[in-house]
Amino acid sequence: MQPEYICPFCRSPIGMNDVNVSTDIALCRTCGKTSSFALVSGNASVSLEAIDRIPMHMQVARDPVLGKTITYRKKSAILLFLIPFTAFWSGMSMWGIYGTQLASGHFDLGKSLFGLPFLIGTVILVSVILFLLLGKWQIRLHRGEGEVFLGIGPLGWTRRFTYNRETRIALRNSSVRSNNTPLQAIVVQNGDDEFMFGATLTQEAKQFIAATLLQETQTAPLNSPSPFSTGFI
Ligand SMILES: [Zn+2]
Repeated sequence: MQPEYICPFCRSPIGMNDVNVSTDIALCRTCGKTSSFALVSGNASVSLEAIDRIPMHMQVARDPVLGKTITYRKKSAILLFLIPFTAFWSGMSMWGIYGTQLASGHFDLGKSLFGLPFLIGTVILVSVILFLLLGKWQIRLHRGEGEVFLGIGPLGWTRRFTYNRETRIALRNSSVRSNNTPLQAIVVQNGDDEFMFGATLTQEAKQFIAATLLQETQTAPLNSPSPFSTGFI
């Protein structure tokens, strides 16, 4: 994936060809202005100082064998709406369509088929609620090998990446948007390979994780132990 940088003056995308990393200059073809590449790419915002403040909802564990583990659990405010909504919507539709059949002991095929979308909707809503209640992000870092997990208990998605002393860590605009504004993701860059994650985390959490990664890369092996992995969360 080609990274997209945004001009700080006119918000137009800046292509890689118009970026000179060694002189730290990015040229915007739309408005003709130049800006600092470090600023445009978001690299300027990763600072080791962020490591001194562990953000809310975050835990850090260090283990000589397993390495460093960052766990992030945050209950979303949307639950305050989602739980009563699901209880009402699912409760009404499930009782009205299936509950009444069970209560009367009389099976109605037409009614049952009509209720399937409501049943599927209920399963999805309950899954989303469980994820928001119990879900976690977990980032493991150990001697050049990193792992990002997003899920509940052992169930979820795991993505792996590698890092070494040459790896660049940045916060950069991603394709994930909130209110039409691109959210920054944590970027682990090994040469041309990019590994991005964490766009939906809070800015504080991203800065802390990025700072931890930056610190880890400084003490990491000189070369990656294994090839880069790809995938999406
Ligand atoms: Zn511009």
